[in-house]
Amino acid sequence: MTDAPQRIAIVTGAARGIGAAIAKRLAADGMAVGVVDLQESATGSTVAAITDAGGRAIGIGADVADTGQVEAAVARVADELGAPTVLVNNAGILRDNLIFKMTDDDFDQVVRVHLRGAFLMTRAVQRHQVEARWGRIVSLSSTSALGNRGQANYAAVKAGLQGFTKTLAIELGRYNITANAIAPGIIATDMLRQTAERVGVPFEDYLAAATKDVPVGRVGQPEDIANAASFFCAEASSFVSGQVLYVAGGPRA
Ligand code: NAD
Repeated sequence: MTDAPQRIAIVTGAARGIGAAIAKRLAADGMAVGVVDLQESATGSTVAAITDAGGRAIGIGADVADTGQVEAAVARVADELGAPTVLVNNAGILRDNLIFKMTDDDFDQVVRVHLRGAFLMTRAVQRHQVEARWGRIVSLSSTSALGNRGQANYAAVKAGLQGFTKTLAIELGRYNITANAIAPGIIATDMLRQTAERVGVPFEDYLAAATKDVPVGRVGQPEDIANAASFFCAEASSFVSGQVLYVAGGPRA
């Protein structure tokens, strides 16, 4: 243990899946966590897991793509936990379709949540980070950034988040703020279950088929991504910035 003050983190989309695992891991690392998701009521199990283990967490309902809700969420974390200096942009949705069937709304909603959401959250949190002269920003990209059938919208935003990350690293580095991205491969969450449903394959069969393409011979678990987030958010990772780490059990999706 050190005498360093407790870091305060915000993890978006942390009611379930990868975000929940990241929130719990950062709490286990010693941080207090603002658990943000669309509905405050949905954050209960993540908050309880953290507080039951002796950590500090609050649940907050906010749409990351709504400026007013983002500003209010960040202010609430600052009031109730302390100034947030760690941000994980994890909230996400899928609206998969082949390009000829993709609607305006499919495209706009995905851009709104992933890109506008990461932008609004980062703009709000960096004020606290700059003031503290320290910060960590981690955004969830994907192996789909390299291109994936049925995901023109999602691939575009996940590639966009990589450019966003590198720009944050350049602009904010002088304040000891690092920005990095994690690009997961196949991770067993409800989001993947949705993909299996779209292609009409039972979830277990989908996971078994996906496993064949993964060099380490398994699909990923949310904790695999939380491990990478923990590394990027660590005090000792202060010289790692602007990077994209593919966490996919191999070199590509
Ligand atoms: P998930 O669907 O299980 O969880 C996403 C969470 O985000 C949900 O709790 C949802 O309510 C929340 N959310 C959605 N829109 C929101 C909004 N506007 N404001 C606040 N919260 C919102 O998904 P997951 O698999 O845990 O994915 C987490 C992140 O990891 C996403 O950015 C996803 O694109 C990325 N990712 C997932 C995989 C995978 O295989 N599961 C692979 C690569 C990248």
